[in-house]
Amino acid sequence: MERFDIIVIGGGHAGAEAAWAASKGGLAVALFTLNLDTIGKMSCSPSIGGLAKSHLVKEIDALGGIMAEVADETAIQYRLLNTKKGPAVQATRTQNDRWRYAQAVKSRLERAGIHLRQAKVCSLVVHGGSVQGVIDQTGTIYEARAVIVAAGTFLDGTIHIGQRRIPAGRAGEEGSHELSAALMGLGLCLGRHKTGTPPRLHRDSLDFTALTRQEPEEGLLPFAFSPAGPPLKQVPCFTSRTTAETHRLVRENIHLSPLYSGAITGTPARYCPSLEDKVMHFGDRDGHQVMLEPEGLDTQEIYASGLGNSLPLELQWQIVHSVPGLERAEILRPAYAIEYNYILPTQIDRTLETRAIRGLFLAGQVNGTSGYEEAAAQGLMAGLNASLSLRGREPFILERSQAYIGVMLDDLTARGTSEPYRMFTSRAEYRLMLRESNALLRLSRQAFALGLIAPERMARVEGLEQEISALKSHLERVSITIPDDLPKIRPTRGAARERVRLQQLLKRPEVGMQDLASAGLLPPGAHPLSLTECAVDIKYAGYIERQLRQIEHLRTLEQVCIPVGVDYGGVEGLSTELKQRLSRLRPATLGQASRIEGMTPAALEALHIMIRATCSSQPPESRPAS
Ligand code: FAD
Repeated sequence: MERFDIIVIGGGHAGAEAAWAASKGGLAVALFTLNLDTIGKMSCSPSIGGLAKSHLVKEIDALGGIMAEVADETAIQYRLLNTKKGPAVQATRTQNDRWRYAQAVKSRLERAGIHLRQAKVCSLVVHGGSVQGVIDQTGTIYEARAVIVAAGTFLDGTIHIGQRRIPAGRAGEEGSHELSAALMGLGLCLGRHKTGTPPRLHRDSLDFTALTRQEPEEGLLPFAFSPAGPPLKQVPCFTSRTTAETHRLVRENIHLSPLYSGAITGTPARYCPSLEDKVMHFGDRDGHQVMLEPEGLDTQEIYASGLGNSLPLELQWQIVHSVPGLERAEILRPAYAIEYNYILPTQIDRTLETRAIRGLFLAGQVNGTSGYEEAAAQGLMAGLNASLSLRGREPFILERSQAYIGVMLDDLTARGTSEPYRMFTSRAEYRLMLRESNALLRLSRQAFALGLIAPERMARVEGLEQEISALKSHLERVSITIPDDLPKIRPTRGAARERVRLQQLLKRPEVGMQDLASAGLLPPGAHPLSLTECAVDIKYAGYIERQLRQIEHLRTLEQVCIPVGVDYGGVEGLSTELKQRLSRLRPATLGQASRIEGMTPAALEALHIMIRATCSSQPPESRPAS
């Protein structure tokens, strides 16, 4: 019988990152997947990052994960989104070579000494409330001290194309019905979600003269602090729009869509509507954008983003042909919708361990999220915490004020999610503090203390910190005369000339670090991250100070633990609705309770009084920390 310390079920983004993080603790880690050739496979769009997701990618990188490095190694187009908005919400997005991405993930896992196994896990071995191993489809038992389930969209998955229903985990791959039943059998509550993917088209069948070209942007910073090598060849994407004919086809045949016929019961994500939903709900006067994205450098497949639907295949051909530039397009893989089970995430802690079964961790799409980045971030945290727990060390928990990962795990575990959860910058109340550009500075020290990054890398991050403070003192010290030293900037209050410190100048909205650098007013050779961070600290000093005060207040609430097993029914000053919600969600701290829907300052105070009363009536050693 094979014995491992940790078994990860799943070779997707969550599983790969979980195995990678777990392996850093020197433990024996195995990764089980239905097919070794699909490790690191992108189920849907061949791209990484984008709004708020790029923040997760950078945080994964800061914590020593692999997603950022792999995304850079296989990027065939970089873009910076939201450039007209503030630094907190700007985001990097890469178009990736789908095949190279999967290869790069797999080879990293192989090189890390992770035991890869192609086997279908059908059940878990649980004794005395602790997980002890897994059993595969041949009945073979594998022992483990911790198990991480990262089975993605495979739990009882069903693909829908028109009226056809195909049991599957994703196109061409069998689903995981036994594992889903096994998890239910352990007493876990499962829900059902739906997602979908657009068709893939043959590049040679597209009329590029009718499409708008979107060139790659040059000179952007990579995701990773230490990219593995030079970038691949960069290629353009193309855009088109749906037409009145597209919308007519969808409207007249809507009864054939399983989304509208009632065949699909799983909850879809509102933020990622299918073509059916766009046409039926969101108006169609000017058409909807269609992005045509290459799937890689050595393939002719083009991903037709925006045309995701679950209509019958013959109708999909007509729909594709109704879009300018796609009149003769050949569909290589059809669009489809998929329904699958997920586990209600209010049953796990922020370490991603289930509350009911010790040693059983859940990560990725199985927790009700959607997206590679969300999955990878959970995988990293689950792998790390499983490893810390087996080594008898304190769990690693990120607070909402420290990282988007902290926001996501707090949202999932304290509030749950009724639709597929994806990250948005609006979910982070302290987003000015959580920029993609400062992820390294925020998290590297913890990563280093946990053994996730090497000393040389930590030294480089410290170098950055020193460079930023040197830049700040330079800006504070040096004064210039405008417009003499900086001709494009006008003096204030109608003066002909003005003597001003660089720091003051930088506070003006029209002045950026790049202007000072181009005029030779900064020490040469500074890292672009140092320039960005220095500018943000100076320009947004007032806002940052305010957020720091709010974070301090939150930290006090976060430190007040709510006694386990408290009877909310008996707490005076809470509405019946709130009592029910608190009993169901069982927040661990006053901070978590403060974010529950319907919570008021008065109700929070009532809870605080209850906690103080409970603590004073208990002997000191059994009191929660508060
Ligand atoms: P997955 O990538 O699904 O990986 C699951 C892994 O588990 C696989 O390696 C599989 O082999 C393994 N596995 C499953 N069961 C077993 C078992 N019993 N034994 C052993 N191994 C097992 N996200 C978006 O953000 N936007 C979208 O528009 C979008 N569309 C999607 C469309 C489709 C059709 C699909 C399938 C997914 C879509 N996603 C989308 C979601 C995105 O693909 C996932 O969020 C992400 O891949 C989840 O990663 P994961 O690691 O949790 O699981």
